[in-house]
Amino acid sequence: MVKRYDAIVIGTGQSGPPLAARLTDEGLETAIIERKRFGGTCVNNGCIPTKTLIASARAAHMARRAADFGVVIDGPIRTDMRRVKTRKDAIVRESSDGVESWLDGIERCTVYRNHARFVAPRVVEVDGERLEAARIFINVGGRAAVPDMPGLDQVSYYTNSSVMDVDFLPEHLLIVGGSYIGLEFAQMYRRFGSRVTVVQRGPHLVPREDEDVSDAIREVMEGEGIEVRLNAECIGVSKQGEGVGMHLDCEDGDPDITGSHMLLAVGRVPNTQDLGLDAAGIETDGNGYIKVDDQLRTNVEGVWAMGDCNGRGGFTHTSYNDYEIVAANLFGDDPRRVSDRIPAYALFIDPPLGRCGMTAREVIASGRNALVGTWAMDAVGRARERSETQGFMKVIVDAENEKVLGAALLGIEGDEVIHVILDVMYAGASYRTIQRAMHIHPTVAELLPTMLGDLEPLAEQGQTQRV
Ligand SMILES: Cc1cc2nc3c(=O)[nH]c(=O)nc-3n(C[C@H](O)[C@H](O)[C@H](O)COP(=O)(O)OP(=O)(O)OC[C@H]3O[C@@H](n4cnc5c(N)ncnc54)[C@H](O)[C@@H]3O)c2cc1C
Repeated sequence: MVKRYDAIVIGTGQSGPPLAARLTDEGLETAIIERKRFGGTCVNNGCIPTKTLIASARAAHMARRAADFGVVIDGPIRTDMRRVKTRKDAIVRESSDGVESWLDGIERCTVYRNHARFVAPRVVEVDGERLEAARIFINVGGRAAVPDMPGLDQVSYYTNSSVMDVDFLPEHLLIVGGSYIGLEFAQMYRRFGSRVTVVQRGPHLVPREDEDVSDAIREVMEGEGIEVRLNAECIGVSKQGEGVGMHLDCEDGDPDITGSHMLLAVGRVPNTQDLGLDAAGIETDGNGYIKVDDQLRTNVEGVWAMGDCNGRGGFTHTSYNDYEIVAANLFGDDPRRVSDRIPAYALFIDPPLGRCGMTAREVIASGRNALVGTWAMDAVGRARERSETQGFMKVIVDAENEKVLGAALLGIEGDEVIHVILDVMYAGASYRTIQRAMHIHPTVAELLPTMLGDLEPLAEQGQTQRV
């Protein structure tokens, strides 16, 4: 017996649920299938819990800094990790339950709670039942990559998922991986009170960024007492008493380090290996990502792939944008495309990094004639008033057509202020639009017009002088 629907959505990440709602609005009988927790990574072990934990860590940090602001706290500051976790769990539960009850309440939407697997191009099996639809949308997301490392089967370790269960303070947390996820956890646990060591195999943290940005981020991390081991590759782990030992292939420093706990933050892999893609003839690339075209169609007619599993984004906002692209093409007579979007993301350390468009390295590689404006955060009134002056801002513009090519804002509110730049990029306007705008005082954004009034040629090596 095959049960027929007009549409099937697999996974309840950031694009599946809004698309299911839209499909049903359009009158289509829709099935949505979730095997674990509703809301997927962002809600359960990604953005929402990490930013909730980061908020607790910041509270501890600011309490320790209270005297800088003339505020007296008598006695030591300590974090109660059980309460930190309880707060996080409550916020996560509210969001996940919200997604689940929303889907349960949608007319024409049937929710299945189990693992889905393709058995034919437009047929999936769930709960021993076969469901068929002319349109199937895959939103299965990804999970933490676990490297094939000698000794890993002998030690206990955390990933971004299992670390969500921690309700105690690790004495010394070793983090393998110094990119976005690793650094958010590094600063968070340091501020909770742990000793933290970050092991990064290359010469720079967050290597996707320009060197001046990664260097400034390293200064922030080290300034808070985080030990950063660069050019150090973890090549083996072993049990050391109650803790864990790591053997490093490194240029400087001790090749053997020990800690009480270990977190792996070495990238993500798509959840596509157990989806029966072969049975449906759906193609993946060498890393398991589902191949899609510019409108997110797979090679099999009637099957789309959205979110992290298509390898075209890796963020909550890119997954949601995938939903918008698919819906606009299906129902809006609006041929939106993945290539329309401008890369944008943030690293939510403190101070945050807001990024959009190209890096200086990419601009130089493209051979463009470019100008750059830079501004140190210690020359921003708002930052000085808050005694949070770390970081700098830089915006790169095309010297010929005056369009903004990219920006990196590492400083307080950098994750918000970046949208000033991003929206001007989407408008395709000249940077002079920002330069001539009157911004509100005292804010961080008020300095953008001034900074853009003083552009320099982008130096060959892409490094900016910090003013
Ligand atoms: C620690 C961490 C922090 C992050 N912070 C940010 C951030 O600050 N900002 C940001 O933009 N992004 C962040 N991300 C990335 C972000 O969480 C993801 O890009 C986002 O969740 C998009 O995921 P998705 O829609 O592709 O699917 P997911 O959210 O991964 O959901 C996929 C769902 O499909 C289900 N599923 C999988 N296979 C099957 C199957 N066969 N049958 C049924 N169901 C299935 C899964 O159980 C899951 O619920 C972070 C990620 C991590 C790990």
